[in-house]
Amino acid sequence: MKTLLSLALFITCSNLFAIQKDFSSNMTFPFEGRGYRIRGVPRNVIYLTIDDGPSRDGTPAMLDILKNYQVPATFFVHGNLAIRRKNLLERMYREGHLVANHSFSHVLDFPSSRSFLNSLLETDRIIAPFIPAENIKLFRSPGGVWNSWRSQNGNSNRILSQYVGPLFWNVGGGSPNRQDDADWKCWRRGNGVTVSMCAESYYQQILKNYRLDQASLVLLHDVKPLSARLVDQLLRKLNRDSIRWEFRLADDMPIIREYSDR
Ligand SMILES: [Zn+2]
Repeated sequence: MKTLLSLALFITCSNLFAIQKDFSSNMTFPFEGRGYRIRGVPRNVIYLTIDDGPSRDGTPAMLDILKNYQVPATFFVHGNLAIRRKNLLERMYREGHLVANHSFSHVLDFPSSRSFLNSLLETDRIIAPFIPAENIKLFRSPGGVWNSWRSQNGNSNRILSQYVGPLFWNVGGGSPNRQDDADWKCWRRGNGVTVSMCAESYYQQILKNYRLDQASLVLLHDVKPLSARLVDQLLRKLNRDSIRWEFRLADDMPIIREYSDR
């Protein structure tokens, strides 16, 4: 999964679920040579997005840290994990986080329309009770894989056409051969990357976005508790700043509101 994930980090296209909502022609984060800009959002805004859970140890650790700092986040979960850990979805909901769809099991390829739709619909069925009515349903595609076939199929379904996505990121991508930001790098033993290094790298990337006058959409994973430690260190750094950082749920973005039917 980590290999697939690292491959995904290079993929930078952005799309919505429907053809008429296609980010490729009207991108949520237009690439301007200086990274992805989230329009209509102040540069001190940070969207924390946390993928690939809920996991037995990583998710409670992440929720504890977020609670300590009173910071909301958007969790892109897998149906096959969520179905066994509904208590963690309940906790996300109760503590003000947003639950979102990351497909059933992180497969990158779907052999048929039916398998694609089932993966997303089954996850929707599991997570829907934990998404407040006022929030928008969000989707992030595993591995960042997206194309018009998926867009058409998603849009053809009444439930999935309500989704906005897939949602990409502008912090936490990490190039596999560089020691830059990506939390999964600090999970690996022996590669010389520590949690502190990862936290500093995330912090610098957020500051860079700020200097470029763009908000930060941060990619993290609650697969291992080490990511919670990273977030602890990152939030401590941000709290000490003279900049007053503001954390929001990912469905707050104007472009997402615009593309939602609500
Ligand atoms: Zn993922």
